[in-house]
Amino acid sequence: MHERGASVRELIAENEALRRQLSSLIDQAESNHAIMMRHQAFDLELVGAGSFRELVETIFRELPIVSSLDIVTLSLVDTGADIYTVMHKLGMDFETLPDLLFCEYQDALGYDLAGATPKPVLGLYNPALHNMAFPQPPAGLASVALVPLLRNKRLLGSLNLGSRDPGRFTPILGTDFVEHMGSIIAICLENVISNEMLKYIGLTDALTGVYNRRYMDRRLGEEIARARRQAYRLSCMYIDVDHFKQVNDTWGHQSGDDVLREVAARIKAELRMSDALGRFGGEEFVVVLIDADLDSASLVAQRIRASVADQPFVVGEGQMLSVSVSIGVATLDDFERDHPIEGVAQQLVAQADQALYAAKVNGRNRVVAYG
Ligand code: GH3
Ligand code: MG
Ligand code: MG
Repeated sequence: MHERGASVRELIAENEALRRQLSSLIDQAESNHAIMMRHQAFDLELVGAGSFRELVETIFRELPIVSSLDIVTLSLVDTGADIYTVMHKLGMDFETLPDLLFCEYQDALGYDLAGATPKPVLGLYNPALHNMAFPQPPAGLASVALVPLLRNKRLLGSLNLGSRDPGRFTPILGTDFVEHMGSIIAICLENVISNEMLKYIGLTDALTGVYNRRYMDRRLGEEIARARRQAYRLSCMYIDVDHFKQVNDTWGHQSGDDVLREVAARIKAELRMSDALGRFGGEEFVVVLIDADLDSASLVAQRIRASVADQPFVVGEGQMLSVSVSIGVATLDDFERDHPIEGVAQQLVAQADQALYAAKVNGRNRVVAYG
């Protein structure tokens, strides 16, 4: 009897131990499932990002939570600062994204580029080695994973993960998981970057890099709506290069193009960040000045006129050439709230154009304000 009682108790104890083990396995499975679901949701969010900004913000916001990380940074190879410039022109504010890093050359990312395709690098955090990937490391950063972002063997950049847990990333750990994450992020990055490039090409003038007419028409409408809401003055300049046909006839079309680029650059240098400059075609530019009345817009126009006329242009093999512009200025008088925006925009540009005509008739190289 005693024997049997003992073995029953043993069986019960064994059974309980098995139950505990099973329930811990179920917990583990549930937790793994939850992690997997979180990662799947994260992947979907990445794929759904409609813009460069949205993608990068999703990575910085979600990845530390989804993967329990203490820091995530993203380094992008940006030779010639093309990506930076385009995103900046599309209105991206990089100051709010301190963990987005740009480097001119891929060597700076810290991968072994001599052999085949670079592999993730996992290991203890070393400030001297990892200062490029983590310029502002959190206190106590202990282990890191640098994940190369590859598209068709091209290194786009690096996803840099950091943890305060020294055992989180070790060289012996498998890299399948981070490689998977790296490849999804690389595809999404390439995709949003090329979309933004297309957007940019559709909004800008290929010769001078300033906005094109299509963009300016849309922007002018938006600015008029905003000026009405916030009750500030909006002005417009119409700029035309004087005797530009002669520049082409005398110096050739190529030099004419150089002059147009330089005129655009000199106009731009006199404007504020909030103003918008566009090429309306040929040798004509339009500027929309935000929060500027007729007098202050005329002052800016005078500065532009002087900056073109006062310094000769260098064309071809170093020949010097004098260029001047005529400028018409107009301002949105009352806000004409009852009128449709499109008509108001057209009228504003037409008034600036009319003032420009007067500047031409009065001898060129001058500024005329409408009215
Ligand atoms: P005005 O002082 O009256 O403005 O004289 P203008 O010669 O500047 O006026 P017009 O409008 O007759 O000439 C504009 C010239 O601009 C004609 C055209 O050959 C030239 N042009 C238009 N687009 C381009 C371009 O993209 N590149 C170059 N090089 N020339 C262009
Ligand atoms: Mg013209
Ligand atoms: Mg002209």
